[in-house]
Amino acid sequence: DIQGRLAMPLFGMDIGGTLTKLVYFEPANFDEFDFAERETLKTIHKYLIGNTAYGKTGIRDVHLELGNQTICGRTGKIHFIRFPTAQMSAFIELAKLKNFSGLASGICATGGGAYMFEEVFAKEVLLQLHKYDELDCLLKGIHHIDRHNPCECYYFSNPRDTECCDKLPFNFHNPYPYLVVNIGSGVSILSVRSKTDYNRVSGTSLGGGTFLGLCCLLTGCETFEEAIGLASQGDSRNIDKLVKDIYGGDYGKFGLKGDTVACSFGQMISQEKRDAARKEDLARATLVTLTNNIGSIARMCAKTEKIERVVFVGNFLRVNEISMKLLSYAMDYWSDGSLKALFLQHEGYFGAMGCLLEYLQ
Ligand code: ADP
Repeated sequence: DIQGRLAMPLFGMDIGGTLTKLVYFEPANFDEFDFAERETLKTIHKYLIGNTAYGKTGIRDVHLELGNQTICGRTGKIHFIRFPTAQMSAFIELAKLKNFSGLASGICATGGGAYMFEEVFAKEVLLQLHKYDELDCLLKGIHHIDRHNPCECYYFSNPRDTECCDKLPFNFHNPYPYLVVNIGSGVSILSVRSKTDYNRVSGTSLGGGTFLGLCCLLTGCETFEEAIGLASQGDSRNIDKLVKDIYGGDYGKFGLKGDTVACSFGQMISQEKRDAARKEDLARATLVTLTNNIGSIARMCAKTEKIERVVFVGNFLRVNEISMKLLSYAMDYWSDGSLKALFLQHEGYFGAMGCLLEYLQ
């Protein structure tokens, strides 16, 4: 079956609780595909590459594009696209319009939505979804992209000084063991011992979706970008109760500095403080609360697993240097410098990338 042999998937899709991530491999040479599939590919390609924004909500992250990649013996470019999962019906319409059913290889999909939307794709788009486990995909994606992009992994130098800490490349080539903290709508924490040996050690439902949900409630904002914009202008000390608000200074006996948060949102029990609270401060406090909680769970996991490198991924970290610096600080400070927070440029796309690769195995 020539078509079967030639068919290789060009799409990996991670349908998450909030965002759908689509990775598209653009082969340098379409001529190797059989005629029917080539025509389909050209239509889809023209649409995807002709735009950087699709409708009001779809985005191609041009800055993440990877050129000169080889997958399955073919060279090409990898493109990264995302849209809200709530817009799936619009994507399904598009898939019908652009004749995705002409893709001989179907589409590789992961995330909860691969299950939720499987039937709709089969019935409406006449397209088969090849389903893969999201955490298997996540790790495969991290491994692959890190190997194929020299500046993928980075960390913040000097994490104790948030004013002058720089983003520096980290050599992740001998990474095991490491912890992955995937901060999406919710959070999953994985302990990774080798390319194939890992387990999910913990998680929390207080994740990126919680930040955004609470922020919308408290400030009336409507998007993640807006929430982060507000937070960047705010001061959480107007909202939280610090150790010094209770002790007048440090709590020396147990090494707690006066600036440590003793009680997140603790000032909000006072009517007066509530009246004085600005949207910006509330957004900042929400961000700091969620970030520190995730950081502290990550630290406990690192300790029980006896692991020193902690890799934070997921779209919660998109355009969110505040949280990355906070996590870097928290990992370093509370572990006396033994834990290192690491970050990856392709943040939320590893599941989608790994899912494309799973098919090739
Ligand atoms: P999931 O697979 O659960 O959708 P992601 O890794 O895609 O998880 O992360 C989703 C989280 O990323 C959201 O909860 C929010 O905190 C953050 N986020 C970043 N960019 C956006 C965006 N454009 N729209 C919505 N949420 C976003």
